Amino acid sequence: MSEKSLNRRDFLLRLSALGALTAGSGSLLAACGGGQQQPGGETGAAETPATATAGCNDLSGLSEADRAQSQQMRQSLQYVDESPVEGKVCSNCALWIEPEPGAACGGCTLIKGPISPNGYCTSWAPRQA
Ligand code: SF4
Repeated sequence: MSEKSLNRRDFLLRLSALGALTAGSGSLLAACGGGQQQPGGETGAAETPATATAGCNDLSGLSEADRAQSQQMRQSLQYVDESPVEGKVCSNCALWIEPEPGAACGGCTLIKGPISPNGYCTSWAPRQA
């Protein structure tokens, strides 16, 4: 046998090993979700920005317990999406949480779920300078 034939046999062995590896990688990728990323980022959560007309009362992203607590807090603190008090809105409240980039609704340290920047509740407090 010449050195050339050994090299060819070696090459074919490596080629078959490579084929086995690439065939296996397909199933590995499938097990990992195919390496595809869902639109909207890595969280996979439906984080579509709320529009101004939709308001910030969609609590469907909360667990059942959190939703019940949020509804109770919204009622007891008389939360509304549009503040009836001039100069007092959620976005200038000390308890306000800024919205995620691209989102219309922010949050509140007291009330779970989306909160309107123009909203208001009876726990409004001025921000400290
Ligand atoms: S405490 Fe009330 S006014 Fe302040 S951010 Fe929360 S919901 Fe808005």
